Amino acid sequence: MPVYKFHGPKRTQKSIPLSRAELHIHLTGSVRLSTVWELSRQKNISLPGNGSIAALEKVVHMSEPSTLAGFLSGFRYTSPPLAGDIVAMERVAHEFCEDISSHGVLYVEARFCPHLLVKPEGGEDSATADDILEAVLRGFDKGSADFGVTVRTLLCCIRGLPQFDKDIVRLADKYRDKGVVGIDVAGDEGHLEEGMAALFDQTVIEAYDEARKLGLKRTAHAGEVGPASCVEQALTTLQAHRIGHGYRVLENNQLYEKCLKDKVHFETCPTSSILTGAQPTDIFYHAVVKFAEDGANLSINSDDPMVTGTWIEQEYELVRSWGLNETYITRANFNAIRSSFLPDDEKKEMLKKLREVNHIHDDY
Ligand SMILES: [Zn+2]
Repeated sequence: MPVYKFHGPKRTQKSIPLSRAELHIHLTGSVRLSTVWELSRQKNISLPGNGSIAALEKVVHMSEPSTLAGFLSGFRYTSPPLAGDIVAMERVAHEFCEDISSHGVLYVEARFCPHLLVKPEGGEDSATADDILEAVLRGFDKGSADFGVTVRTLLCCIRGLPQFDKDIVRLADKYRDKGVVGIDVAGDEGHLEEGMAALFDQTVIEAYDEARKLGLKRTAHAGEVGPASCVEQALTTLQAHRIGHGYRVLENNQLYEKCLKDKVHFETCPTSSILTGAQPTDIFYHAVVKFAEDGANLSINSDDPMVTGTWIEQEYELVRSWGLNETYITRANFNAIRSSFLPDDEKKEMLKKLREVNHIHDDY
């Protein structure tokens, strides 16, 4: 019989001031494995190996570079115990706030696709995408109040699942005053190549068009594994305000120069981009370093802590080991708030908090 023990993230220091901002983190990629394990056992959902948390960790955690598909393989164990369960989703969202707060995050935009958490078999009284989203927003509200963080939500379209795209925009519009601040498109770019005419599904293009008309903010995973033209199409066809990852923009110098000039925001995720194979480890020089040294508008993010085993502090440690000092890290935090999807007055307030915690004063 496996012995239950707490496997939540540990505080890396006794008290980290709330001083960080994260724009790219997946809620379902940040779930505590202890919660997954507990729910799986309650619901008689099969667990890998001998059924222990250690065996679950072994399947979900990644420490060696693989592919995006390999990176996501652990989700087959972590998603079923959450599917259709609004109590579980409220709990997961609340725990997320606690975890993020313990890592000193002042402001976070967490993203997920509610439709992927609807029970596939359905049923009349089963939870809808609206119910799932409401549960998450309740968890975030309660967690924000309990742990002092500010959390906003992004809703994800998923490549290859066009049936959700239109509804993502409906939900983003319906819940825009309740914490949802924009949309995203996620999913595997591995099959995409330079020169392909359409690098985003037609339904995604239509969804982004509708979102633009409704005044909803837009980010898009692009150029992580897919080619530089994914970044180009995200900026032109989707008119995205920000780019998730975007490293392969470096393969098109003209486009990269334009991104620098236009201050396009890159949501970089150092560890996960190594583990998904987006950045080969034999080239020690990571795109994040190049972006930072070129003065690009970037943030540093943890993407999927449940898989990488890293929270924001470990991401900072990694970029420090590449030679980026505190100046770059502080800049990244200010960039994140400036490029966040908060309304201007709230952004101003958040920038003020960030200045205060960094002891940056205008009066001397
Ligand atoms: Zn991502």
